[in-house]
Amino acid sequence: MSAVAEKAIVGKAVRGKTPAGKAVPTHRQPQLPLRPAGAETVRELLAWYDAERRHLPWRYAPRRKADPYRVWLSEIMLQQTTVKAVIPYFQKFVALWPTVTALAAASQDDVLQQWAGLGYYSRARNLKACADAIVRDFGGVFPSNEKDLRTLPGIGPYTAAAIAAIAFGVRATPVDGNIERVVSRLFAVRQALPKSKPEISRLAATLTPTRRPGDYAQAMMDLGAQVCTPKKPSCLMCPLQQDCAANAQGIAELLPLKAAKTARPTRFGLAYLVLREDGAVLLRRRPNSGLLGGMLEVPSSPWGDTPPIAKDATRSAPVSASWWQVPGDVVHVFTHFRLQCVVHRALVPVDVALTFWADQERCQWVHRRDLNAAGLPSVMRKLVAHGLQDAAFK
Ligand code: SF4
Repeated sequence: MSAVAEKAIVGKAVRGKTPAGKAVPTHRQPQLPLRPAGAETVRELLAWYDAERRHLPWRYAPRRKADPYRVWLSEIMLQQTTVKAVIPYFQKFVALWPTVTALAAASQDDVLQQWAGLGYYSRARNLKACADAIVRDFGGVFPSNEKDLRTLPGIGPYTAAAIAAIAFGVRATPVDGNIERVVSRLFAVRQALPKSKPEISRLAATLTPTRRPGDYAQAMMDLGAQVCTPKKPSCLMCPLQQDCAANAQGIAELLPLKAAKTARPTRFGLAYLVLREDGAVLLRRRPNSGLLGGMLEVPSSPWGDTPPIAKDATRSAPVSASWWQVPGDVVHVFTHFRLQCVVHRALVPVDVALTFWADQERCQWVHRRDLNAAGLPSVMRKLVAHGLQDAAFK
């Protein structure tokens, strides 16, 4: 057994919480796996992958290099998003823009509109910026090494390693959530995430083969998604069962350890749903930087730490009108905070003037029948749906 593996297995006092909130036994002389993770582990894993891999629209057959454009597009879409949610978006994007050059020729508004509903909208802006950079700086051809890939917008260490390994066969080691979990268990890493990330990356790299590194990465991802699942891993069905330290110690379900999360704060906002008599709704383009950057929104107050004061509600409204507060709140959970928003609604004539607060240059009127195609992010769709309840307009 390597010194690295032994150190990881023996471990020290456990800090942090297990996914199930249980304590992990601290073994001074833990059970060892029958065969410590190494080259044979990789052979078993690749054989399993050849037979059991997931068939996904961006995947190529084992031992085949994939199209870097499709690998990149899928990896960006899969960040913080499930495979099931990504598949229809991936298929739509490659149908609309089959190459990186075609995507670079599209407008940012079109890309954002097609991305609407997938969330984390900075990814869509970076997608377009990255396509532009590849066409402008690399002649429309993806660079094949991690160093150059990491200079591109939206491509961090994980995505660079995934593209290099899967599309170009470079010996690189992407570590996503699935791989993190499998490696934590294979080596019984007892340090809690996120502090254990560098150690997990190092251990994962010790397994990366020089032949088929892309298949190895995808095999680890598939094993994590299908067998070594967060709750109730199927150790009896696992091709790596005899290589796995966590399985040998009976602690597979308890790993990876995670540091206790801090509570997600609540922020409060007030949205103004302006309905014009001809059936149009007032929307506004958000600034390019920041949360939901470049997306359309229902004109809203800034989101603050305290609930809006009722008597100030119409002070920063985008039109002067008779406002009505729609009963109830809209709640939307972002990664770092929870948004609680009230909606005020007004019906206005077609020739209504916008106030200073509307920021007229960023505003546009969109007919209600076109709202679905307008590319509103999920939180704005919720606000519109909540605000339109019981509205008897065209
Ligand atoms: S499924 Fe079980 S045996 Fe396989 S890697 Fe995960 S914890 Fe180990």
